[in-house]
Amino acid sequence: SRNSIKCFLKRNLFVLFTVVAVALGVVLGFALRPHNLSLRNIKYFAFPGELLMRMLQMLVLPLIVSSLVTGISSLDSRASGKMGVRAVVYYMVTTLIAVFIGIVIVMIIRPGKGSRDSPVANSGNIEPVQAADAFLDLIRNMFPPNLVEACFKQETVEESVPVSGSSGGVNALGLVVFSMCFGLVIGNMKQQGQALRDFFDCLNEAIMRLVAIIIWYAPVGILFLIAGKIVEMKDLAEVGGQLGMYTVSVIVGLLIHGLFVLPLLYFLVTRRNPYSFIGGLLQALITALGTSSSSATLPITFRCLEENNHVDKRVTRFVLPVGATINMDGTALYEAVAAIFIAQVNDMELNFGQILTISITATAASIGAAGIPQAGLVTMVIVLTSVGLPTEDITLIIAVDWFLDRLRTTTNVLGDSLGAGIVEHLSRRELQNQNAEVCNSVIEE
Ligand code: ASP
Repeated sequence: SRNSIKCFLKRNLFVLFTVVAVALGVVLGFALRPHNLSLRNIKYFAFPGELLMRMLQMLVLPLIVSSLVTGISSLDSRASGKMGVRAVVYYMVTTLIAVFIGIVIVMIIRPGKGSRDSPVANSGNIEPVQAADAFLDLIRNMFPPNLVEACFKQETVEESVPVSGSSGGVNALGLVVFSMCFGLVIGNMKQQGQALRDFFDCLNEAIMRLVAIIIWYAPVGILFLIAGKIVEMKDLAEVGGQLGMYTVSVIVGLLIHGLFVLPLLYFLVTRRNPYSFIGGLLQALITALGTSSSSATLPITFRCLEENNHVDKRVTRFVLPVGATINMDGTALYEAVAAIFIAQVNDMELNFGQILTISITATAASIGAAGIPQAGLVTMVIVLTSVGLPTEDITLIIAVDWFLDRLRTTTNVLGDSLGAGIVEHLSRRELQNQNAEVCNSVIEE
């Protein structure tokens, strides 16, 4: 048990480092603000943070592919089918709950009531999109015609918003769909598929070892990501009135969803303490806060779930890449709040049908949003056009978006991770059966 003490210390040391890094980042950021650094100098200053972002993004592509392929090929197709259905049901239910919370909060607080704080300058660069075109683009991106290209580029055929989970230009959604099908096929190939299964298994293991190295650098990167942003941000005093109340509405909604609703759901399903589970995720949550990208956080999310919370690898490998690409509770909540806020600012009374439309399009927009910084702001256009709100009013909320983006990304990662815990619990029977089968076949051999 000396080993386990050492292990405990090591794990908590990391968490401690990360928390200290956040605190230092905040202090350093505020200390540097009065010096009015030029944009160029801020960029130099934040460079170590940029490096962390790049390292994480570098791993995302091989991580998504190798984990999905091994995850799915190691399960028999009935088990993976059931697991998939459970995951999707969880994603839909929690996203809809998030949207509902958002709508209720924004209706109660009414941040946009009264006359407009500021007239909006029509910033002609936001093109209205047809919701239908954006939806078709989402489906299109599921089937990349060129796999190599999908690794560095996503496609938008219609001139619409950049939908699909792209991360650093990756068409994540397309790769997720391909890897799942590929995993399914080589899982059924018996002996013939062994070489490929071994290859992807090995690749996955190697990537996770790289993650274990990068994680040492993460606290440094996070420190500079946070400090850099604080130095750069506009004066908070400007954010008063309607925008301030809007910010509060989103924060309250995210807190209710992340700290009460999701943990309650986790508890109801698993009967385990959700907060100790969340404790194990701390590093991933802080990384999400620092990077505002659920894709870039994915490597750390994997590590936290597997190493700290001991979630079965067959579940994390399957569920996490999908979750990071399509399950975004925080984004859905924010989309609903923002759309209704903009309606309030425009003195537009929404009827029940319009609110329903907002809930549906906000859900779609969250699925379509890529796991990259501020993707949700872009897919907002879909929600606004669906109920005839002026898209140029997005400019109203841009000032605070970098901040809300961090919070909603953290909620997104939390939702994906609790989902992995829930799916594991619900699938325990299949997982045990599978273990028994593997044992039997080893004995037979
Ligand atoms: N940045 C968010 C994420 O990566 C997406 C968004 O902009 O809402 O999860």
